[in-house]
Amino acid sequence: MRVQVAIVGAGPAGLLLGQLLARAGIETVILEQRSPEYVLSRIRAGLLEQGTVDTLEEAGVAQRLHKEGLVHHGVELCFAGERHRIDYQGLVGKSVTIYGQTEVTHDLMDARKAIGAPSVYEAESVSVHDFDGNSPRVRYRTDGGAHEVTCDFIAGCDGFHGVTRQSVPAGALKTYERVYPFGWLGVLSDTPPVSEELIYTNHERGFALCTMRSMTRSRYYVQCPLTEKVEDWPDERFWDELRSRLDAKASAELISGPSIEKSIAPLRSFVAEPLRFGHLFLAGDAAHIVPPTGAKGLNLAVSDVRYLAHGLIAYYRSGDSSRLDRYSERCLRRIWLAERFSWWMTSLMHRFPDTDAFGRRMQAAELTYLFRSPTAQKSLAENYVGLPLED
Ligand SMILES: Cc1cc2nc3c(=O)[nH]c(=O)nc-3n(C[C@H](O)[C@H](O)[C@H](O)COP(=O)(O)OP(=O)(O)OC[C@H]3O[C@@H](n4cnc5c(N)ncnc54)[C@H](O)[C@@H]3O)c2cc1C
Repeated sequence: MRVQVAIVGAGPAGLLLGQLLARAGIETVILEQRSPEYVLSRIRAGLLEQGTVDTLEEAGVAQRLHKEGLVHHGVELCFAGERHRIDYQGLVGKSVTIYGQTEVTHDLMDARKAIGAPSVYEAESVSVHDFDGNSPRVRYRTDGGAHEVTCDFIAGCDGFHGVTRQSVPAGALKTYERVYPFGWLGVLSDTPPVSEELIYTNHERGFALCTMRSMTRSRYYVQCPLTEKVEDWPDERFWDELRSRLDAKASAELISGPSIEKSIAPLRSFVAEPLRFGHLFLAGDAAHIVPPTGAKGLNLAVSDVRYLAHGLIAYYRSGDSSRLDRYSERCLRRIWLAERFSWWMTSLMHRFPDTDAFGRRMQAAELTYLFRSPTAQKSLAENYVGLPLED
């Protein structure tokens, strides 16, 4: 097979890139190691910045999002049993949309099927070759045997554990990493959310987050030690723990129910630099990871893809490679700002096992300052709704 762009990974980054390129008449193939059902069963992000919504509109996949998504104008932070609202709309005139990553992925899969662009699911042993020379190739295996795709460019959209970043020669990549000493235990349940907006809670027992996917489906998280297993957390224990961390009103109003998904996610900050090696471009979690506290992971994947798609479209339309040449630098500027915000929110809202009494007082003072200072709230709001995308 020969295509213009071979995309490795059918998560949101790979599917969105395929869709933006297809609309510009650029031929792609997507190679994904898992089945479509498996990809759709992963419960992950749920908060879309305006720039993400705009990009999904540009890709022609925002109809259901506009019908079913919940527009939020603010968020609540809870500390010492009291909730404080940060009014994004009032502070920066912007809002965010609650719409699950699974639904975004569903819409993108449907759109790709409708245009008849090729995707290979359950592709085994995917490997990338000669991306530093002039004949980039991707090889993979299926039940039918071994296959090779030749292409002009390879897009590595295969997530943190994918093969593309690992194929870059040692020494050509610099990585930066911080692993946090706790995880997030998440529960999805078909129960109405406890509040119309998200509640982030800093409690002495640990962080808790009340979020949602719709007005009938809730997503809740509690900070837990990395040594814990999902099996240690029967539903009843989870709801008791969550209730113990919420303020009195939320605790009284929380409606619990059977979990329909339960998982523990470790928290990590990670950046690989640069994002381009010859004809190979990395995008999304393949290049960077943020702790989910800032709700930036999916949004960063979308902004990378937007820059990459626009660069490839300019190249194929007029031979102009300047956007591709600047891809890594433009993405990294945004990535590091999102890394900073996600790290700061994580530091502000969690209990760190090694923090001493002075550190805890500093965290309390930082929150008190935030609740009193309109300037600090504006900065939080600006970062939370997403910094503007460059053209
Ligand atoms: C458990 C968890 C919870 C999260 N919660 C949140 C949240 O609440 N908020 C938030 O903003 N973000 C969250 N994130 C982050 C967010 O989901 C990611 O940033 C987003 O999925 C990135 O999209 P992506 O397409 O770059 O990568 P992925 O979604 O990881 O997609 C990569 C795809 O590549 C495929 N792949 C991997 N290796 C290969 C290979 N060798 N060959 C072929 N295909 C391959 C994978 O199967 C996958 O389908 C969470 C992430 C995780 C893991």
